Amino acid sequence: KLSVRLETVAKYVLKESKLADIGSDHAYLPSFLVKNGQISFGIAGEVAKGPFQSAEKNVLAEGLADRISVRMGDGLEVIQPGDVDCITIAGMGGSLIASILENGNEKLDSVKRLVLQPNINAIAIRSWLIENNWELVAEEIIEEDSKIYEILVAEKGDPLKPYCDIPLETGLLVGPFLLQGKEKAFKKKWSLEKKNWKRIYEQLESAAPSAETEEKKQELIKKISLIEGVLDNED
Ligand code: SAM
Repeated sequence: KLSVRLETVAKYVLKESKLADIGSDHAYLPSFLVKNGQISFGIAGEVAKGPFQSAEKNVLAEGLADRISVRMGDGLEVIQPGDVDCITIAGMGGSLIASILENGNEKLDSVKRLVLQPNINAIAIRSWLIENNWELVAEEIIEEDSKIYEILVAEKGDPLKPYCDIPLETGLLVGPFLLQGKEKAFKKKWSLEKKNWKRIYEQLESAAPSAETEEKKQELIKKISLIEGVLDNED
């Protein structure tokens, strides 16, 4: 059975699409999608030998070798332009996901939808999407095993559309759709972040004063007050 995290990613994969799952590890996601009939063909890309081998092993064991091509390579190196129309990248940091998209940008012409699940630093992805004319069309936030995950879905379009009614800085940090929903996991995530920033602020206050610590403190104050605005000062 798939984790709730990967199930949520799966939910947004276009039906009948040709999919590339980059950083697929065990290839659980493409295997699940093929078995469920949601897609008929998938590519599982892996840069590391161990995960690549476990993807190959699983795909063979499931009898899916004719439907899932397991390929070893860095990021979008494993696909050719026109190969796929949907890409999933899950379970990595947001900056790594953004750099994978940036390095393989020329492969994205045929791609209609990106489903991305950063473990941290979703802001790096939201910024990349805006700079590259991808429009965020949906977001979800979920909690599983005491960890909070964000899922970002993007299609080509008007990249600023989701941000038109909110301050861009806030939208980039917390996500325009997630800001609208303000679900339980969302409130939990940002009150924890706020607590963490406050703790760092206090540490800086007891450190030797310097221009650098002062700058860091100002940045933290800005972020804390931004989040307080988002959380309606609830906690
Ligand atoms: N996508 C799966 C998931 O969400 O459960 C696996 C996540 S696992 C934590 C991250 C995987 O990404 C690792 O297996 C790692 O080898 C792979 N990875 C990291 N950087 C990569 C890159 N540049 N190209 C392809 N795979 C990469």
